[in-house]
Amino acid sequence: LALSSDRVRYDDFKVVIVSLKNKDEEKLFKQNFPESKGVNYFKEPSCKAPGTVLVSAAMLRRLNQSGLQFEVVNENFQWTLDEEHFDLKAKPYSLEPDIFNTFLRHDEMNRYLESLSKKYSSLASTEVIGYSNEGREMKIIIIGNGHRTKSKKIIWLDAGIHAREWAAPSAAIIISHKLLAGYGKDEKTTTIVDKYDFYILPCANPDGYEFTFEVNRLWRKTRRNCKTEDANECCGVDPNRNWGFHWNETGTSGDPCSDTYSGPFAFSENETRVMANYIYRIKNRLAAYHSYHAFSQLIMPPYGYTYQLPPNIFELMVKANKMANAIKYTSGNTFRTGPPPYVIYPAAGGSHDWVYGVCKVKYSYAYELRPQSGDARGFILPIDQIKYNGEEMWASFKTFCLII
Ligand SMILES: [Zn+2]
Repeated sequence: LALSSDRVRYDDFKVVIVSLKNKDEEKLFKQNFPESKGVNYFKEPSCKAPGTVLVSAAMLRRLNQSGLQFEVVNENFQWTLDEEHFDLKAKPYSLEPDIFNTFLRHDEMNRYLESLSKKYSSLASTEVIGYSNEGREMKIIIIGNGHRTKSKKIIWLDAGIHAREWAAPSAAIIISHKLLAGYGKDEKTTTIVDKYDFYILPCANPDGYEFTFEVNRLWRKTRRNCKTEDANECCGVDPNRNWGFHWNETGTSGDPCSDTYSGPFAFSENETRVMANYIYRIKNRLAAYHSYHAFSQLIMPPYGYTYQLPPNIFELMVKANKMANAIKYTSGNTFRTGPPPYVIYPAAGGSHDWVYGVCKVKYSYAYELRPQSGDARGFILPIDQIKYNGEEMWASFKTFCLII
């Protein structure tokens, strides 16, 4: 484990909610506050919706002078990170990873999937579908009664394509557990595990994910062309802008220093190629595709790249709203539904667009998990919320499987 002195620190960085009144203010903001060492977009502001931005003390002074409207919601982001670090370290060591109370490292996740497949050997197997840029195993768990016959319709779930969005892999791990532990005990779980095969990849960007533990908690991209300890932003590619469907058309950057850098060409990244090749091979069995991100509490059908609506938008929205209702009923949390351009911003090169557009999978969704948009901690989900995050996403997932 890296010493804390090796970690990128965010002392005196503040989380601000920026509200832009019109296109002129939007332009002013983008010119004066581009992504840099002192500016990190948690959610990019536009004149349509306020954004959440992490700014250094110097950038806050500039923001004060700019005349733009903003509100400070977190006075010192380093304190938030210190608290998370303390909570994770304070966890007692246990042989069985405590999936409801802690965030697992990548190797712990893979070992956990192995242990599930041993414990429930008739219902589950694991498979390494390929390797990350730094050589980490991209391991999926396959769950289903009779999954070895490879004959049933598949429901795919991946998470963590963006490294810092820890709530997402955590929920995917909990869902894997729930599908298996509930079989033969819970009627609805038994029904769906009998009916479908579930292919779950809980950590789609393992190099980036590990880097968020070791060096920079806010890393988002892959680690392509990065040196091991290099916290420099000008390497790596945004793996959810890298898929080859209307690649690089909108909401992406050609600047390697940007957090939304789409890469030198579509599928330039090992991680996206591995996933796409595998998904393409099983596409005729794919009933649905789900991809978990964080944060903002959204359920998003295609398309990300255009305001144009997909042909079966009505069915997609009916299912999305039923999932949102299941979450509301479970935790009281509100998830908004709609294609990305309508609920956040247009962005091309996302996995759920490619699966829908190229593989012709009828139900394809990207999600933003907890916390709510505008939250003062952003990606730093308090560990006492891990189980509630898992429970509400399980409710959403189970509901979806029962209604398609
Ligand atoms: Zn994301």
